[in-house]
Amino acid sequence: MSVSVELLSKRFGRSREVVGVDRVSFSAPEHGITSLLGPSGSGKSTLLRLIAGLEVPDSGGVLLNGDDVTKTPVRERGVGFVFQNYALFRHMTVFDNVAFGLSVRRAASSEIGERVGDLLRLVQLTGYEHRFPDQLSGGQRQRIALARALATRPRVLLLDEPFGALDTRVRVELREWLSRLHEKTQVTTLLVTHDQEEALELSEHVVLLRDGRVEQAGSPSEMYEQPKNGFVASFLGGAQVLTGRVDRGRAVFAREALSAEVDLKDGDLVEAFIRPQDVRLEKLEGTVTRAARVERVVRVGSTVKLSVVLPNDDKLAVQMPRYEFDRGGIGLGDPVRVDLREVEVRAALDASE
Ligand code: ADP
Ligand code: MG
Repeated sequence: MSVSVELLSKRFGRSREVVGVDRVSFSAPEHGITSLLGPSGSGKSTLLRLIAGLEVPDSGGVLLNGDDVTKTPVRERGVGFVFQNYALFRHMTVFDNVAFGLSVRRAASSEIGERVGDLLRLVQLTGYEHRFPDQLSGGQRQRIALARALATRPRVLLLDEPFGALDTRVRVELREWLSRLHEKTQVTTLLVTHDQEEALELSEHVVLLRDGRVEQAGSPSEMYEQPKNGFVASFLGGAQVLTGRVDRGRAVFAREALSAEVDLKDGDLVEAFIRPQDVRLEKLEGTVTRAARVERVVRVGSTVKLSVVLPNDDKLAVQMPRYEFDRGGIGLGDPVRVDLREVEVRAALDASE
């Protein structure tokens, strides 16, 4: 089942002054996982709730497999959802929680038993039937929430930060788990997340939102390699955006501490999208004025994270493998040359970006 929305808008507040989503259009391919990514308040949950039918749009439409379901009630849309804090029914066992949707639909008890058994196997929690939610770990609870969402065989699965409340290690585990689960079920899934790593790792299609609008949509690699603007580059690649000007065939940034060869006219405004791992540093010898300097070095396992202060007081995050750092002989306070050869430098489209 493919999902698409067309020019969907929703405002909140007494005088409709709060923008939830603003003329959002995108399509989520059938059988895939599509991530709705964006910072807090960008409209992700509103969008998901509109698709589920939990909110009514001011204008625009929701299409499931090409059929307009904008006016179809929630229960007839065939969607299953899981929210970040989707509390399971605390007074019900795991079995009853998973069976809930089927019981409501008055399915035969033999059918319910079989389906719940299948689902618990699918989420790898066979044997937990008689436990209560508070006898489960946070991760197990979300797996049960997922089993419950899948019980009625939804055509679309809507997940709103399903792992958001869990600690990092469990979240990363569940990410892999969800990916394998999806391979088995092939249910068209929309995943809301503010975590770019989660989005890039799990989905083949990403819709990046900002202030209720779609900033860019595409495959993870497309968006990573061809970000439409600085916001996309920083949100998806952790890039910092520096603006500068072309001077004698070179793009020059931060009072000439950084430069890169470009094929642009002198005086043109340029921007560099600098990802921490794309920067190379080279120690400068002797007395140097107006150079970038290393002000912080943190070793994190096999990588080293550095903070470099530029002459205009901008700070640049740099990351490199530990062996490269050790070989470079760079120390705290050292002046360095910042090599931008691996960095994307382009004409600035808009001075405001
Ligand atoms: P996200 O999930 O990306 O954090 P939301 O969709 O929850 O963002 O919110 C988008 C915007 O809409 C925010 O400014 C939020 O405050 C506002 N908003 C969402 N739901 C409501 C509501 N029920 N009443 C008023 N404002 C809301
Ligand atoms: Mg949200």
